[in-house]
Amino acid sequence: MNKTRTFLLTTSTSAAAALLTATGAANAAGAKPFKLTDAWKAKIEAMAPATPTVAPSKQHRVLVFSKMTGFRHWVTPHTAAVVKILGEKSGAYSVVASDDIENFEPENISRFDVIVLNNNCSNGKKRDLFWDATKDASRAARLEQSLIDHVAAGAGLVVMHGAIVMQNNSPAFSRMVGGSFDRHPRQQEVVCRLVDPDHPLVQPFQGKPFVHIDEPYLFKNAYTNTNFRPLLEMDVSTLQGYTDNGVRRYVAWIKRHGQGRVFYCSPSHNAQSFERPELLRFILNGIQYAAGDLDCDDTPPANER
Ligand SMILES: [Zn+2]
Repeated sequence: MNKTRTFLLTTSTSAAAALLTATGAANAAGAKPFKLTDAWKAKIEAMAPATPTVAPSKQHRVLVFSKMTGFRHWVTPHTAAVVKILGEKSGAYSVVASDDIENFEPENISRFDVIVLNNNCSNGKKRDLFWDATKDASRAARLEQSLIDHVAAGAGLVVMHGAIVMQNNSPAFSRMVGGSFDRHPRQQEVVCRLVDPDHPLVQPFQGKPFVHIDEPYLFKNAYTNTNFRPLLEMDVSTLQGYTDNGVRRYVAWIKRHGQGRVFYCSPSHNAQSFERPELLRFILNGIQYAAGDLDCDDTPPANER
């Protein structure tokens, strides 16, 4: 069984490598940004799962928070639309989209079963979006603590791509999420492999890696302890501008935080990456895990604990 799987993975990776050689140069500058349109939403709607992966225990309320004060990701509105479409079409959850930081006050955040942080890049040296938004250190600290406490008490947290930068200098936020942003080589075609093809969350990929144009995010702080269950990793042997050879580089994972559950998903910097049903189902799986519906092994790997 293992032999067969290894063979399949090797074959698929070779095919991916051939694809890289053929198109890598043309895509070196990254994928072309485009505005979110009804036509693109309809395209995603058509590819999105019609049913949830597991029946939801209730109609979860999901906050999608897309405020940024630093780098503006063009994919931000597309990512918010993807999360909304995945919930509405499958019936797994309903979405409240709001960029109001008042949502994080302790008396407000309790209304949400899952918080989706969408590319909330913070600014400058502080790397603290709550401070950027309030210019008030005590209020900023209260809002961050409120989010951490809410997840610890049993809520779900989904962190999409650049949102890991939101509280990038906060050790407590890093421990909750599983890491902080460190750096990235330039955008390029990235081969994403499944860390464990048997894990329930990666079943949409059917044992095969996928290739897309992305910023290859590298992480630091809590990440170095691998205090999470890794799901996707980059094939670093094909990564240009990467020098830490031999170090595994994970780009999606799940983890516990107190009674709550966290899903981090680096894919993707570009909206084109969402135009694949397997990635859409994977993101739905991650949200259903965060919501407490999808039961699966979320323990860190024993040899890296
Ligand atoms: Zn990015």
